[in-house]
Amino acid sequence: MAVARTRSVALVGVAGRTVEVEADVGNGLAGIHLIGLPDTALSEARDRVRSAMVNSNYPWPDARIIVSLFPASLPKRGSQFDLAIAVAILGAAGVVPAERIAEPFFLGELGLDGRIRAVRGVLPSVLGAARHGDVTVVVPSANSAEAVLVPDVRVVPVADLRQLVEWLRKGDAPPEPEVEGYADPPKTTCAPGIDLADVVGQPVARRALEVCAAGGHNLWMLGPPGTGKTMLAERLPTLLPSLELDHALEVTAIHSVAGVLPPNAPMLSRPPFVSPHHTATSAAIIGGGSTVVRPGAVSLAHRGVLFMDEAPEFPRHVLDALRQPLESGRATVSRSAGSVTFPARFMLVLAANPCPCSQAEDQGETCKCSPTIRRRYLGRLSGPLLDRIDMKVTVNRSSRRELLADRQFVETSATVAERVLVARERAAKRLAGTQWRSNAEIPSSVLHADFRPPDEAMQPMTACLDTGSLTARGLDRVVRVAWTLADLADKDTPGQDETNAALGFWLGVR
Ligand SMILES: [Zn+2]
Repeated sequence: MAVARTRSVALVGVAGRTVEVEADVGNGLAGIHLIGLPDTALSEARDRVRSAMVNSNYPWPDARIIVSLFPASLPKRGSQFDLAIAVAILGAAGVVPAERIAEPFFLGELGLDGRIRAVRGVLPSVLGAARHGDVTVVVPSANSAEAVLVPDVRVVPVADLRQLVEWLRKGDAPPEPEVEGYADPPKTTCAPGIDLADVVGQPVARRALEVCAAGGHNLWMLGPPGTGKTMLAERLPTLLPSLELDHALEVTAIHSVAGVLPPNAPMLSRPPFVSPHHTATSAAIIGGGSTVVRPGAVSLAHRGVLFMDEAPEFPRHVLDALRQPLESGRATVSRSAGSVTFPARFMLVLAANPCPCSQAEDQGETCKCSPTIRRRYLGRLSGPLLDRIDMKVTVNRSSRRELLADRQFVETSATVAERVLVARERAAKRLAGTQWRSNAEIPSSVLHADFRPPDEAMQPMTACLDTGSLTARGLDRVVRVAWTLADLADKDTPGQDETNAALGFWLGVR
C-alpha cells in the first residue's frame, strides 16, 4: 500500500484553482479508478497515461490504482491533468521519490508515446499556482514561453515523460526555459502598414476615433459601402497605448484559454482588435462551447476593440446579448453545470449601411429602398443597444474637392496616439486610487457623485432630456465623453463647449 500526492490546476473561466491529485497503489483487483468528477476527457486520460508510461519503459503497476482529484466540486475538464496523474502513479509505485513530487505543480497532456503536449490556459494556470507563493511549475516545453511570463515562479519545461522522470529521480537542476520573461513594450506602437493617415476625407470620423481612443468610448458609424468605415475601425487600435502589465496578463490569459496565443512571443501587449462576421454563432461571439467553455469575441476583445461590420445583419439575440458585457465588463456563459464568467471590457465599434441594398448600389444600381425599409433595417439595432453607444457619426462619400482640402489636415497614428496618451494619463490621474483608468469605465453612481460637470455645462442636455431625445443612460454617456473632450483639451473640467460637442456626437446619426 503506497500513496503519493501532487498538485495541478483547474481553470474556472480564466481563474486557476489548485487541484490535489492523489494516487493509491495497493492490493486488490488490478485496474485504475478515477475519482473526482471526471468527464470524458479525464477517462481518456487514464488510457493516455497508461500508454505513455508503458511506451516510456516504466512498469504499469499490476495492482489496484485509485487516483482522486479534489476538490471534487471543481469542474475538471481537458487534458492538462495527464501529467499530474502520471506523476502521482509513478510516485506511489516507487519509480520517482514521492517527496519530490509533493510541492511542484504539473501541467500537460501526455501523448501515447510519452511526449508531453501543449495545453490551453497555461498562463492563467501558472498565475493560479503562483498564489501559493514560491512555487515550481512543470509545463510542456511548447508552453514555456507563456509560463515564464508569470513573475517569481520557477518554470520547468519538459518535452517527454523520460526527461521528467530523470529530473525527479536525480534531483539536479531543472531544465532551464530557453525563453525570456516579459519586457516592457514601447508606450505606443503602430502595426506596420496600418495608419490613420490612410483615411483621407473623413475629418469628423477621424476626430471621433481620437475621442473614443482617449476615453474608451463606443462608436457607431453609419454610411454607404466604400466610405472607409472598416479602414477607420481597424485604425482605432493604432491610437491606443500599449497595455500595462496587469492588463497585458489579463488579455494574454483569455487568449491562452481560447488557445489562440502566438507560440514564441505570447505576451499580448497591444490592445486586441476582434472583428467577428455576422454569421458567427452566439457562442463564438459571447462565449460558450459544448464540452469546454471558451471565451467569445467579446472576451478576446477585452481591453481592445470589438468591431461589428454590417451590424444590423447580426442576429437580434446576439446584439441584445452585448448589453450585459457593455454594462458590466463581463460576459457570463450559463451552462447546465454552472455558469462561467470571462472578462469582457471592450470598445464596441458598430458599422452599418443605411439600407439593406447598399451593396447593390455600390455596383452601379440605384437604391429602391423605401423609407420604411430603411427604418426597419436600422431598427434592428435596438434602442437599448444604441443607448450604450457613446458616439455616432455619419460617414459620407467625399467629393474630390473635399479629399484635396482634407489632405493637409491628415495626421499619422503616432501623432494622434501622443494626444490620446496625454488625455488618458490626465484621466488616470483624476481616477487615481479607484479601480478605473478611463472615463468610459466610471460607473453612473460615481459619475453623478464625484464627476458632475458644473451646472452651466449641463445646460445643453436639459432641453434634450425634456424632449426625450436623451435618456438618463444617454446623459451619462454624454457626460463621460465631455470629460474625455476636456482631457484632450487639457482642461480641468468640461465646459459648455465640451458638453455641446459630446451631445452632438451622441445625437450624431439622425
Ligand atoms: Zn437601398
